[in-house]
Amino acid sequence: MPIDATRPYDDSNIFARILRGELPCKKVFEDDHVLAFHDINPAAPTHILVIPKGAYVSWDDFSGRAPDAEIAAFVRAVGRIAREEGLVAPGYRLLANTGGNAGQEVPHLHVHIFGGGPLGPMLS
Ligand code: C5P
Repeated sequence: MPIDATRPYDDSNIFARILRGELPCKKVFEDDHVLAFHDINPAAPTHILVIPKGAYVSWDDFSGRAPDAEIAAFVRAVGRIAREEGLVAPGYRLLANTGGNAGQEVPHLHVHIFGGGPLGPMLS
């Protein structure tokens, strides 16, 4: 069920539970601001989710109220992970579903990194 991206943050969501160590994940990268892990249901040969450690519902929430340092750390981490996974030369795609029309399911901001093979057209 897609979420309403304007709703308040609910820390019972599945990514909050991963951040608290209550649920496992296949970790790719972690620093003070960011956690990245393999998507449990990959839609590409490489499919990584990058999430901020702060409590943000969506891209809208994050871009609207996160401190600049957190935004910079997040953006740099996304780029670094893609580089370290060897995705830059062959190419990759970023996606941040935001709210109902986009089909956002988990109410904690996540950016998808897709790569590892041809990705096809973005919209079908
Ligand atoms: O952008 P959206 O909210 O639709 O994406 C949620 C993503 O979180 C899905 O790709 C789903 O496979 C992934 N997921 C996960 N681990 C979970 C629950 C969901 O990787 N435990």
